[in-house]
Amino acid sequence: MALIDGKKIANEIYENLAVEVQKLTRENNLQPKLAVILVGDNAASLSYIKQKRKACEKTGIQWVQFDYEESLTQDELLKKIQELNEDNSIHGILVQLPLPEHFEVPKVIRAIDPHKDVDGFTAYNLGKMFLGTEFEDLPPCTPAGVIKMLEYYDIDPEGMNVTIVGASNIVGKPLATMLLNRGATPTICHIKTKDLKSHTINADMVCVAVGRPNLITEDMVKEGVVIIDIGVNRKDDGKLCGDCDFERIEPKASYITPVPGGAGPMTVACLMENTVKAAKRLNNIS
Ligand code: NAD
Repeated sequence: MALIDGKKIANEIYENLAVEVQKLTRENNLQPKLAVILVGDNAASLSYIKQKRKACEKTGIQWVQFDYEESLTQDELLKKIQELNEDNSIHGILVQLPLPEHFEVPKVIRAIDPHKDVDGFTAYNLGKMFLGTEFEDLPPCTPAGVIKMLEYYDIDPEGMNVTIVGASNIVGKPLATMLLNRGATPTICHIKTKDLKSHTINADMVCVAVGRPNLITEDMVKEGVVIIDIGVNRKDDGKLCGDCDFERIEPKASYITPVPGGAGPMTVACLMENTVKAAKRLNNIS
């Protein structure tokens, strides 16, 4: 078994990006800038924002944060997004999710200029991915992070039967598309799937993004399986865990991601990559 060290890969990405950002600043007078909008004070959101901010500090990407009370109206938020769309000094716009219940998330996402959509959540960026790898310009960060982890460990998805558990628009569906683009045969399972085990037991790779501890147990996977655990759950003792029974599956797996330290840091690293990419594109720098 080999552990996939997402934290280590993320740090290498930061080192490379820091050099690139310095060069852009020096040679092109361009310092990529990420604008982050936070509505309310959801504890998980605050923690995610802290990680993203730290990553910006490591890479030299500028960070600007707009904090609003939960009482902010949708129209006020849309107006702020429009203002950031039109601001040439901003290269990436991120609206931290979840938003309070009175917001229509699809409408808010739709308001973001796709060229500044560094989360990769707009229909434009998601739709383009269907056309193939060369159109994965600003891919959603979590699936992009998974692909990078596979590449780093020379795990080629071509020809693999991959079962993805969880079919959200930001993780499961785009991950299936990116794996399909790379020659895998993906199966997507979700809450309505009958007999989940029948889909996981013969899979060469199982990727799980549900948010349920121990959803995938040792008896559900085959010897030598690659496990990508994207789920994040907080246990009673306050520690984080994924969706897989890590301890029992680990001896059986050829590769496995830990939680924390796997998909999480890679998601943030890919957000930084997307921000630099967006800044370059917006300024016609190749
Ligand atoms: P979501 O709630 O939008 O989607 C969950 C998916 O799981 C749905 O498709 C649902 O049908 C499916 N599902 C629910 N119960 C199931 C069951 N019993 N069997 C099979 N499928 C089931 O969630 P999301 O935003 O995609 O996030 C999923 C998990 O991944 C969460 O734990 C979240 O915290 C985590 N996540 C982690 C990162 C990261 O950076 N590591 C990023 C995004 C999401």
